[in-house]
Amino acid sequence: MKLLLSPSSSLKSGPGAAMMTAKLLLRGRRSQHQHHRVVRRIPVLVSTSSSGSNTFSDNECDCGFCPSWGMRMIKPPLSFNRIQQQQQSRYSSSSSSSSTKSWSNDDSLYERKKLSSIEPPTVAKELVEYLNKSWTAFHATKNAEEMLKKAGFVKLDEDKSWSSSSSNSNSNPPLKPNGKYYVVRNQSCIVAFCLGGEYVPGDGFHIIAAHTDSPCPKLKPVSKRKERAGCIGVGVQPYGGGLWHTWFDRDLSVAGRVLLKKNDGRVQSELVKIERPIVRIPSLAIHLDREINQSGFKPNLETNFAPILATAIKAELEGFNNNRENKNKDANNDNSSSSSGGETMHHPIILAILAEELKCEPEDIIDFELNVCDTQKSQIGGATNEFIFSGRLDNLCSSFCALKALIDASKDSSLKKHKGARAIALFDNEEVGSVSTSGGGGTVMIEAIKRATLSSNSSNSSNSSGGESDVIEQCLAKSFLVSADMAHAIHPNYTEKHEEQHQPLFHKGVVVKHNANQRYATTALTAYMFRECAKLSGIPTQEFVVKNDMGCGSTIGPIVSAQTGIRTVDVGVPQLSMHSVREMMGTEDVDICHKHFLAFYENIAKVDANVQMSS
Ligand SMILES: [Zn+2]
Repeated sequence: MKLLLSPSSSLKSGPGAAMMTAKLLLRGRRSQHQHHRVVRRIPVLVSTSSSGSNTFSDNECDCGFCPSWGMRMIKPPLSFNRIQQQQQSRYSSSSSSSSTKSWSNDDSLYERKKLSSIEPPTVAKELVEYLNKSWTAFHATKNAEEMLKKAGFVKLDEDKSWSSSSSNSNSNPPLKPNGKYYVVRNQSCIVAFCLGGEYVPGDGFHIIAAHTDSPCPKLKPVSKRKERAGCIGVGVQPYGGGLWHTWFDRDLSVAGRVLLKKNDGRVQSELVKIERPIVRIPSLAIHLDREINQSGFKPNLETNFAPILATAIKAELEGFNNNRENKNKDANNDNSSSSSGGETMHHPIILAILAEELKCEPEDIIDFELNVCDTQKSQIGGATNEFIFSGRLDNLCSSFCALKALIDASKDSSLKKHKGARAIALFDNEEVGSVSTSGGGGTVMIEAIKRATLSSNSSNSSNSSGGESDVIEQCLAKSFLVSADMAHAIHPNYTEKHEEQHQPLFHKGVVVKHNANQRYATTALTAYMFRECAKLSGIPTQEFVVKNDMGCGSTIGPIVSAQTGIRTVDVGVPQLSMHSVREMMGTEDVDICHKHFLAFYENIAKVDANVQMSS
């Protein structure tokens, strides 16, 4: 129970350690380590300080057995303080509220609230809200844009001039120190930045990059399928490396963007999200495949993975019959079709659903890009409300934390004195290799950096850096990129899958990822700089390297750093069930990540100034 509050590394590396120690404590056993833990914990528990001040160092022990935060930290993590405060608020000597209940165990010195009323960090609740609105990369981008606009960021159009000296009245507003700006590409990728008050062209960009896409089935270009067994299915293709078996027997729907032909001939792209469950991929009954639990579930993604949309008979009763489909086919064949492409490519019933939602006619739909999505809402869970259960945590958690940290950092008074730019880049298509116009392998981020630098350079031609031809190269050499993508927490039921010394745990900090074969872009230097930013704000970090007998994933880190030359570190928040339709992570980890990213923006220039690379 109270073990969740333990700031120290586990006695025994591994996820079971906290649980094990809890049991030992309650039984009153006292080994050297457990003795240490009790000594260390009690002053925290009985503290009556309401200031929330840091009392952790008072509890430091020099028994020599327990690895301490002191190895990495100068004070406890902010989120640890939050847990401490939560604990103190629970401590009560006189409260008789009906929502509290006395502990009967003599090891427990306080009354506690109902478990169900334990409040997770606000930022975790905000993430859940963002997840519920962001079913696709398009929605994640749109919602990010709305948050940025609300915080005063100004949109820059890529197809207009960024030059402050442009005489074109149709150009973007001039970029200025303390200004906040963003660029959107393909509706699925967003780059945002704010310039420091002392920014001059050639100064570095401090960037946190993440991705907006997640593995999912996507509707095929022609999603209409032949009627099978009296059912109408939808043709889908898998996007990315999903845990596809988890998509079976879920209440699914569709979301994405739809191209509409307007009355005046314009083509408009609109986002759509059908909230109700309209499709499902049913599994095969155990009775029809008795060996499945022994031989494994191996669905054929072409034949077994098509979601069911309706029965043919119901569709026909509602007027979506074969005749209509045939009529469209005929019209298409004689090449004199006045109908839209939509009706010949997709079942009329799906077009009708989209038209209903978009308040248009099915004939207005030219085409679409739709993802199959889980309709189950993201939510907070666990006995002490300490987890988030949701799809798309990889990588909307990193995207959201980066976004929120940038917005907070753009309001911070430290920006006025900052020499450089603070930025985020939320790319699409990471799950399929990043090579796209809106992916990390594309040009959207580097072009934004170049254009911002050159635009400011022309407007600052009278100052010392004005007119220098290599301001871009100077800027890139001074820049730093945090490639933020989720990490694998050690799984309590599969502990053998993690390397002995690198076992990320919940609530223990953002994970710095390393790989000798450059699957991650981290170097000793970039890892140090990222950790040091956290350390200066009292935030913990963890390390990860994959086992030598296993393959390693990759991220946008190596791609972006190779293309730009920007120093890069690969990091991520620990989670379980990565790439499942329903993943899980810790609520405190959202808080830690957000605060670490904020600390990055605040401290990186200072940390960088102290680093010397001898040639
Ligand atoms: Zn990812």
